Amino acid sequence: MPSIGNKLKHLAASETSLARQVRSALVGTLFASPASLIVGALTCSFTAGTIAWASGSFALLLCSIAIHVVGILRVVCYVAYLRAGEDDVRQDKVYWERLYEIGAWLYSSLLGMLAFLTLIWVGHNVLALMASTTAIGYGAGVAARNAGRPVIAIGQLCLSTLPISLGLAFGPDPLGWILAVLIVFFVIGIMDISLQIYEVVYSALSGQQEKVEVAERFEKMARSDMLTGLDNRLAMQMRLGELLDTIDADDDLKIAVIWMDLDHFKTINDTLGHLAGDKVLIVTSQRVKAVLGDRGWLARFGGDEFVIMAKVDSTEEAQAVGEEILESVSQPVSVNDNTIEVGASLGIAVAPEHGRQSEAILKNADIALYHAKNDGGKKVRCFEPFMHEDFLMHRQIESGLKRALERNEFTLLFQPIVDIETGLTKSFEALLRWKHPELGQISPAVFIPVAENAGLIGDITKWVLREACTAAAGWPSHINVSVNISPALLKQTELPVTIIETLVNTGMVARRLELEITESVLLDKSPNTNSLLKQLQKMGLRLCLDDFGTGFSSLTYLRSWEFDTIKIDKSFTRNITESTTDQKIIKAVVQLARSLRAFTVAEGIETAEQLAGVREAGCSHVQGYYYAKPMPAVEALARIESEFVPEEGQRAAS
Ligand code: C2E
Ligand code: CA
Ligand code: CA
Repeated sequence: MPSIGNKLKHLAASETSLARQVRSALVGTLFASPASLIVGALTCSFTAGTIAWASGSFALLLCSIAIHVVGILRVVCYVAYLRAGEDDVRQDKVYWERLYEIGAWLYSSLLGMLAFLTLIWVGHNVLALMASTTAIGYGAGVAARNAGRPVIAIGQLCLSTLPISLGLAFGPDPLGWILAVLIVFFVIGIMDISLQIYEVVYSALSGQQEKVEVAERFEKMARSDMLTGLDNRLAMQMRLGELLDTIDADDDLKIAVIWMDLDHFKTINDTLGHLAGDKVLIVTSQRVKAVLGDRGWLARFGGDEFVIMAKVDSTEEAQAVGEEILESVSQPVSVNDNTIEVGASLGIAVAPEHGRQSEAILKNADIALYHAKNDGGKKVRCFEPFMHEDFLMHRQIESGLKRALERNEFTLLFQPIVDIETGLTKSFEALLRWKHPELGQISPAVFIPVAENAGLIGDITKWVLREACTAAAGWPSHINVSVNISPALLKQTELPVTIIETLVNTGMVARRLELEITESVLLDKSPNTNSLLKQLQKMGLRLCLDDFGTGFSSLTYLRSWEFDTIKIDKSFTRNITESTTDQKIIKAVVQLARSLRAFTVAEGIETAEQLAGVREAGCSHVQGYYYAKPMPAVEALARIESEFVPEEGQRAAS
């Protein structure tokens, strides 16, 4: 059992560390039972009045009047407390506590004084008994009643009872002196009870408060994203629901929902690690917040997806906000001595135009995002109704692609690349074909980007490599095969391993396999891509720069990379007969390629005129419908064999 000293120490300590809510509840107990306060005031006033009247003492009359006045004021104060709004009271608990304390101590002092004066002046046993029992009864009662604020309670106890001891001590009767001492012990005993009650009340309230705090903390956690501290999906959806309710009331109000997804975030995570990825997410969230200011709200939807909501006047304003965000997010981020550029794609839907329900508006923003991504990333797209159909089609393609490999829906065709001088096949480009069970034949130009976005291109390319190498392994050794490699794959370190496995399994020679890559791969100056390309070249693979002329067409690429082949894009060869500029460009590229000892393949040759044009420009090889369309492996083999028929003078049948 803790001693009264320890209890007082604990009281002093707990007073300073008292949680606001706990203190507020404790103060509330002072005002909790109106009946006890009113009954107490009435009884005391009646006793004081009786003693003043019976004794005829002027001092006791004044004391009695004071007891009446203070008693009335305390009741008034009590009513005022009850009338004050719940919020005001809660905010200003200290004020009400002080007010109560002053009233309580003043009242107790007056009762103590009444008993003291009655004891030393009146000399009437019944009146002395009346005053003393009232003061002691009051002191003991409030010590229990107000134990929630023990300083007040103990103060009241001492002020109302100790004057009785004092009165007895001044008296002539030795029995009175004994009683005076006993009353002090009695006060100490009651104090202990008061502190005991306080401890019980305090720990009950603190426990309750802790529970409330834990519940609040859990609720906050459930609504926010741990990494960025932003609202999470749940919180955002609730906020969106509330915001959408407000548009019903205000016709001019529009709510823009901007769905943002970082471009190539997975690559950052895979190559630089999760900590770097986290840093990018944090920096991104800070930047978006800075752009938004108090114009809107930002939430992280998980992974690298963010959703922004803003009140706007028009779709154009929403687009402008999106552009601002993209601009800011696209600034370089420095992570562990690396400076990385993080692009983003943003899809916007505006309520009420694009939906009034949060589900619809989020879905449409997602559809717009899908289009922004399909446009190559670093784009802001606002939802348009046509996107919906496109989206469904894309989704159908995407889900179909996931099953296409296991259902054997792919086929590989081979299009010959012909030596312009001899007309003989030099190699075949492997081109993928897919027949969707419902949509029918789909162009690779359509499904390859979908496969890239859905992360399926790795498995598909593995299949293409295997089929292409299996076919080519059966061809004469001077005929090569080329396979298109998506830029996304050149950021992944598995590619060399996949290729080695394929070569070993199919018995193909590395030098006969050519990888066709587009310029966009070289634009990305990441050290990973660089070392991967070097590794592939070291393995003896041939490299072909595909679609030259469509991108940035920087001649420096040609110098810094030892390409075995440069493919001049169809768009150039198509116009070669009409445009002298195109012809000049092709000539310049051919000359440079020659100096670098690379072959040049003119793509998309359909007519004899085009063939003459590229021959004139000096191209070493051609590919196009003029010679042959992409064909199945058996036909490719037949073509190779036919080129060796002696009567045809080893001339290709074209
Ligand atoms: P690409 O690499 O530029 O392939 C050449 C495209 O031109 C092929 O289209 C081919 O059929 C077409 N073509 C060839 N000669 C002519 C011609 O004389 N006139 C015209 N108009 N077109 C001609 P295809 O097979 O539809 O492939 C389209 C694109 O899809 C390819 O362009 C390539 O980027 C991609 N692709 C195809 N197969 C694969 C693959 O296995 N992997 C990857 N990553 N991409 C592939
Ligand atoms: Ca190609
Ligand atoms: Ca091409």
